[in-house]
Amino acid sequence: MRILLIGPPGAGKGTQAARLAVHLSIPHISTGDLFREHTGQGTELGRHAHTHIRTGLLVPDWVTVGVLEERLARPDTERGFLLDGFPRNLAQAQALDGMTAGPEPRLDAVLVLEIPEAEVVSRIAGRRLCGRDREHVFHVDHSPPAVAGTCDVCGGELYRRDDDREATVRRRLEVYRSETAPVVGHYQAQGLVTTISALGRVQEVLDRALVAIGRGQVDDSCASSC
Ligand code: ADP
Repeated sequence: MRILLIGPPGAGKGTQAARLAVHLSIPHISTGDLFREHTGQGTELGRHAHTHIRTGLLVPDWVTVGVLEERLARPDTERGFLLDGFPRNLAQAQALDGMTAGPEPRLDAVLVLEIPEAEVVSRIAGRRLCGRDREHVFHVDHSPPAVAGTCDVCGGELYRRDDDREATVRRRLEVYRSETAPVVGHYQAQGLVTTISALGRVQEVLDRALVAIGRGQVDDSCASSC
């Protein structure tokens, strides 16, 4: 399957993408993570990307499209992929159309995670990531680790992303509204979009996502009793 996950910062794209990818046995490809890997390794690309990331702006398309093209060329994408954080503007969506052109359907589904902006700001303010595995994510209030500052899963040290400061989050939200939201229209025109609420527990959102892509069951336990 080829799936895109779109949503504002703090909607839980990374958390859901990691789980969905395991469920569907396809690679989880996050352009944000690819950039952070480059930055961690001190590459020139990573340094360049970081100057944009830390101010909440998009990394220029020529860098981003190149990074994604290289990643999609790896053999593990033959069975499909789950893209998290790409495309983030119309030019990237058009570039992806070109990369996925062929006899197969380009994409199977585009999932849009919806969340009120006030919730985004509070989620991101308390978000802490594991320094060893970025897929281990905590929140100081909503899902705190047993020992403050330490990952429950692997013992890694928890840290705060430097683009998670409030002013930067507000800029990222503005960029989402002006540049990324129009991408949804691009895929709506192709009949691919399903919008789901990103509110609630991680498992609840995951269940909604699985239903949306035809891999889950609608929870009708409330149908007669609630
Ligand atoms: P979030 O969705 O919470 O903002 P990401 O890890 O997806 O987190 O992205 C972090 C930052 O990386 C973005 O604010 C942006 O600067 C950069 N980035 C990620 N994906 C892209 C992309 N497709 N195009 C341009 N910049 C990107």
